[in-house]
Amino acid sequence: MNKALYDLIRVHYRDLQGYESAGMEVAKDADKIFLNANENPYELPGLEGLNRYPEPQPFALCEAYAQAYGVEGDQIIMTRGADEAIVTVTKIFCEPHQDAVLICPPTFGMYAVDAKAMPVDVVEVPLVKDAGTFAPDQDGIVTAVKRQGVKLVFLCSPNNPTGTSFSHEMISELCEALEGHAIVVLDETYAEFSKAGSMAEDLESTPNLIILRTLSKSYSFAGMRMGCFLCGDTDFVSFVKAKALDAYPLPRLSIEAAFHVLSPEVSAVAQENIKKILAERARVAGVLAASDQVVHIYPSDANFLLVEMSDAKGFHRFAEENNVILRDFSAKPGTENCLRISIGTPQENDVVLRLLEKFGA
Ligand SMILES: *Cc1c(COP(=O)(O)O)cnc(C)c1O
Repeated sequence: MNKALYDLIRVHYRDLQGYESAGMEVAKDADKIFLNANENPYELPGLEGLNRYPEPQPFALCEAYAQAYGVEGDQIIMTRGADEAIVTVTKIFCEPHQDAVLICPPTFGMYAVDAKAMPVDVVEVPLVKDAGTFAPDQDGIVTAVKRQGVKLVFLCSPNNPTGTSFSHEMISELCEALEGHAIVVLDETYAEFSKAGSMAEDLESTPNLIILRTLSKSYSFAGMRMGCFLCGDTDFVSFVKAKALDAYPLPRLSIEAAFHVLSPEVSAVAQENIKKILAERARVAGVLAASDQVVHIYPSDANFLLVEMSDAKGFHRFAEENNVILRDFSAKPGTENCLRISIGTPQENDVVLRLLEKFGA
């Protein structure tokens, strides 16, 4: 394993013997009798196959992810959503009461929650507002990492809730500056909606880069809880699979459904839906911009808009009274007076736009 990763892993993981589940021992051929996992031999009607534990990391599904994400199968660790990937990387690298993670708020809330659960410190280097958009404070991040025992730097691009993409060049520079000190965990949950796309092709040349992906948003698959993390170092991937995953992390039905989602026919539909969402994002932004209730719309590379309003709280409440649920960020530093509005179907978006017109009248 490369030193940039190995030296930062919590020391006790080096000797830790992971759980060897019954599912790892032998291939599940149909002509064998399996009495090794205390499974119930009787299938229930309509639930065939579910009496058996699933494969921990099904090889064929891994290959399908590899295709989708432009990496090799042995560079992927499949998890229950990107959320479980965040927990797993935090657990592997962060020594409780000693290490720290760095976040750039306003950003996704789970990085800090998972760190505090360890517990490890959360160092904040806020995004800098610049010309109506947000940008990471590159020097501030490097200084804070070196000064405060930071092991993981979480960057989300496009960022939730701001919608901002950060340049691949900047992220590469940051990885280079932090090599030997910290891992950059790049959350690409919304990459399919962005022009910049993924940094997967930089993984092999960037030893301290880990990328998070998920089927939840772009593939309409949030209910199935399927995601993964990617690393260029295949030894690291094997290490994590052997030592740091739950025994059977992926539900059997989610595995089967994921195959279906990643099939050429279904993923082509998902691609078309992304185009529809992007067209709607542009349309909705255009209409919002004309409203005198709207102060600023942050440029978005994702499937939502962060909108600064003259009365964000008021409109949030008004929408809710009319059965439209938006996300209120107005109490959070950096997103004062802002709502985050997910892009829905054209009909759903029209409801929001009509409510805004009514609210302003
Ligand atoms: C939605 C979201 C996730 C969680 O994704 P799951 O795969 O559904 O767990 C992770 N990161 C960001 C930035 C998100 O917005």
